[in-house]
Amino acid sequence: MPPRLPLACLPTPIARLERLSRLAGGPELWIKRDDHTGIELSGNKVRKLEFVLPEALEAGCDTLVTCGGIQSNHARATAAVAARLGLGCVLLLDAGPDPALQGNYLLDQWLGAEVRLIRPDQVPARMELMAGICAELAGRGRKGYILPLGASNGIGVMGYAAAVAELCAQEAELGFRFDAVVCPVGSGGTLAGLVLGRARCGHPGTIYGVPIAEDAAYFRPVLEGLLADAAAILGEPMDPARAELNFLDGYAGRGYGLSRPEELDSIRLVARTEGILLDPVYTGKAMHGLLAELRKGRFAGLDRILFLHTGGLFGNFQFLPPTSGH
Ligand SMILES: *Cc1c(COP(=O)(O)O)cnc(C)c1O
Repeated sequence: MPPRLPLACLPTPIARLERLSRLAGGPELWIKRDDHTGIELSGNKVRKLEFVLPEALEAGCDTLVTCGGIQSNHARATAAVAARLGLGCVLLLDAGPDPALQGNYLLDQWLGAEVRLIRPDQVPARMELMAGICAELAGRGRKGYILPLGASNGIGVMGYAAAVAELCAQEAELGFRFDAVVCPVGSGGTLAGLVLGRARCGHPGTIYGVPIAEDAAYFRPVLEGLLADAAAILGEPMDPARAELNFLDGYAGRGYGLSRPEELDSIRLVARTEGILLDPVYTGKAMHGLLAELRKGRFAGLDRILFLHTGGLFGNFQFLPPTSGH
């Protein structure tokens, strides 16, 4: 594996969802709490950053440059990592007019990131805009490092490949293996990492991704590209028989960052039954999809399913009424 900078609180706990399993009827449901990777660093992005940052530091960069939506968890985690390491951080966030200063967007500012807002119609030009920021930084004698959306690139994929090794060690202690692992899919790096890690560790379970925007047809080539890039970095060709991609499709609802009442109901159900908070953008949708598939009997016959809680809790605060800007 490439060099890794320890940033996350690991291993993250695994817990059984006893009451939710009973309600859902079907295999036992368990959860891996990657929302516990840290407070400021909460969520899945820090696992990718552990592998991306050594590359940035090795290249002599002093400023992290990345992009995302106004409530991007990845942008906030990047801002937190930059502050921890004494690096600069420029975030290119797309937003409608006058976004409320709350949730991750508020934390980005507190963490000292320089936030530049772009309009939704500028989103396709994000890579060029970030390259422009690096040129600007160079003019000031600084060196920028561009992280792609969600830190999902070949090197970022290593984060969840390593997480599968962590899971295998936890399973050895638990005395069983999970039959399936379910995660949300936003930019694809988490699912790609799990698939790669499963292949490298020879894990017998099936990995399912739940697209939280777009659909499986959109993500399949994205995932194939990420897996090819990761394999090139490792210098190990991926065994096509182990590179199988599985999706729980049809749960993206109204699209990225938009919720439907039934998704929010699933969030409240898990909160009340288990005392666990999900988020509206990713884990709430993924859990909603998992519960719906359980009702359809998709996982009948399996013993245990592991849901990966990828974080995103600060995203819940977008449901606060807008404030006057403090
Ligand atoms: C980014 C994110 C995801 C999606 O992960 P990808 O690796 O981008 O597919 C899932 N959950 C949360 C909370 C996230 O912030």
